[in-house]
Amino acid sequence: MSEKYDGHVHSPFCPHGTSDSLESYVEKAIKLGFTGLTFTEHAPLPANFIDPVPLNDSGMSHQQLDEYFNAVEKIKDSYHGKFEIKCGLEVDYIEGFEEETRAFLDKVGSKLDDAILSVHFIHHNNQYTCLDYSPESFEELVNALGSVENVHKKYYETVYRSLTADLGDYKPKRLGHISLVNKFQKKFQLDISSSHLVTTILDEVKKQGLSLDYNGAGTVKPLCKEPYPPSWVIEEAESRKIPLIYGSDAHSSKGIGQGFDQLSSTLLSSPLPLSRS
Ligand SMILES: [Zn+2]
Ligand SMILES: [Zn+2]
Repeated sequence: MSEKYDGHVHSPFCPHGTSDSLESYVEKAIKLGFTGLTFTEHAPLPANFIDPVPLNDSGMSHQQLDEYFNAVEKIKDSYHGKFEIKCGLEVDYIEGFEEETRAFLDKVGSKLDDAILSVHFIHHNNQYTCLDYSPESFEELVNALGSVENVHKKYYETVYRSLTADLGDYKPKRLGHISLVNKFQKKFQLDISSSHLVTTILDEVKKQGLSLDYNGAGTVKPLCKEPYPPSWVIEEAESRKIPLIYGSDAHSSKGIGQGFDQLSSTLLSSPLPLSRS
């Protein structure tokens, strides 16, 4: 039984998003027939991490976090009984910042109904590069690591580390857009398949009882044109009975539902509870 739930939605608290109100996202989701959604704003990055993107706007500021939680609680109450809203965060896994991330989750975890763990930053040569910021930032990684294959390898190794890292009792139970490394795939083609790296991740996801963000945002990226992850990964996930939760990754209310009609699975579910089982 497929559930039309959107588990990956941004908000006006996103510094690189739009100022569309929380209500406008919810109303759009209701209009499209969704049963619920999770607001998963980019969590504040560790205070001692220097955001490598030009405007340093990858995550919410620490100062805004309480305001975000209050606003989501408020809208959750106002739609109570009519439409399900969960309070969540998209948390970055940053290699080398595990302790800080765990401390952050320990602090805010009790306020979360749901959360996503994503890799956007790649650690190399004593620095970090944002993988999905632009084709130029991706190219920087290709040059630094030597090949497109090496970027994929490093990305999937980082996703695997995110899975095995000790991030405490409130570690997110869902991996965000696990094939984000494909965002610019039409420009940076892969000659050697990295499928074994992906299936290793899926085995570990299954072992830990986690789920996957089945993310529609890639379908509207001109150099990607397919969901994250692509259908062969979805087939592998389904054969392992890994729960798939659709995510629009909308950064504006009109982005709600994006890519939904291009998903290859009809076996979608809503998020598992975040608290320790
Ligand atoms: Zn974003
Ligand atoms: Zn993301």
